[in-house]
Amino acid sequence: MLKAVFYDLDDTLFPARSVPEEVARPMLSALRDVLEGCGELKAAQIADIMDKVWDRPLDEIARLHGLSAEVLVRVGALFTGFRLSCELMPYPDIQVIGQVPGLRILVTTGFRRLQESKLECLGIAHYFDRIIVDALDEPGRRGKQAIFRELLEAYQLRPDEVVVLGDNPHSEIDAGNKLGIPTVQILRGRKQAAASASFHVEDLAKFLRWIETRGMCPPS
Ligand SMILES: [Mg+2]
Repeated sequence: MLKAVFYDLDDTLFPARSVPEEVARPMLSALRDVLEGCGELKAAQIADIMDKVWDRPLDEIARLHGLSAEVLVRVGALFTGFRLSCELMPYPDIQVIGQVPGLRILVTTGFRRLQESKLECLGIAHYFDRIIVDALDEPGRRGKQAIFRELLEAYQLRPDEVVVLGDNPHSEIDAGNKLGIPTVQILRGRKQAAASASFHVEDLAKFLRWIETRGMCPPS
């Protein structure tokens, strides 16, 4: 019996790259200045970071490119002050979430003000019973695995009563797998299927169908 779903935000419920260019431009140009000015990155690395900045959490990008602590602090300072103020659209199937049984808990990794502003711009907070930001810019960051574990304890849930839905194999899929929670990877757009996810779906309607066919809830 399904009692809760832990949802990811970016590229699960809205296309992270849909932030309007004019809104992102000042931020991206400041980021480029820091990366070019630090003297420790090749042009190809800078291009890759600029390409991934909407797709992956900054800690993951930093690991991938071996960013020094000094550069990470400077980049973090840019993001910490940045919030979006524009209209954003969720994926058109967002209302399917209302049909998924159990607690709806959103857990999103990123800079607090930026992630919270995305939710305001999207207008989707009302779909969720609880929203948790795994904030990269706050001390004592726990990460998704620790947050998921705390949620299991707080709501007295067994791992098999929960499903993790997200796009990123290195983030929520990995965290769910380590706790024995079934993980469903949502493959929006050009996303590659990760073998580590228990199941794959293309959209929220297929996710709902997957839950129903597993007998986790009565068919709608
Ligand atoms: Mg994501």
